[in-house]
Amino acid sequence: MARPPTIAIGPPDVVNVRWSDGASHRHRARDLRLACPCAHCIHEITRRPLLDPATIPADLACLDSTRIGNYATRFLWSDGHSSGLYTNDLLRRLGAATASGPGTG
Ligand SMILES: [Zn+2]
Repeated sequence: MARPPTIAIGPPDVVNVRWSDGASHRHRARDLRLACPCAHCIHEITRRPLLDPATIPADLACLDSTRIGNYATRFLWSDGHSSGLYTNDLLRRLGAATASGPGTG
């Protein structure tokens, strides 16, 4: 089971995710917001995106993060949205997609 990462916000539009195995990823807050897995943003059954990226400001910031048990993290975004539970697996996948190759970071 993936262990929960350490989340550090800063600058406000950047979310740094560090894993216990030493991997770390730097996400634009807006990119994580667009990947929100909640039922408002992704259709629960079809997995079709319901969120229009045009409605998310380019300078969207992450205001806070809360660990949910050992399996997920909840973020509070500057657009007021906070219902997405980002599981460790999801964050890890998003991080892998962000890393463009060796030496990133
Ligand atoms: Zn959402």
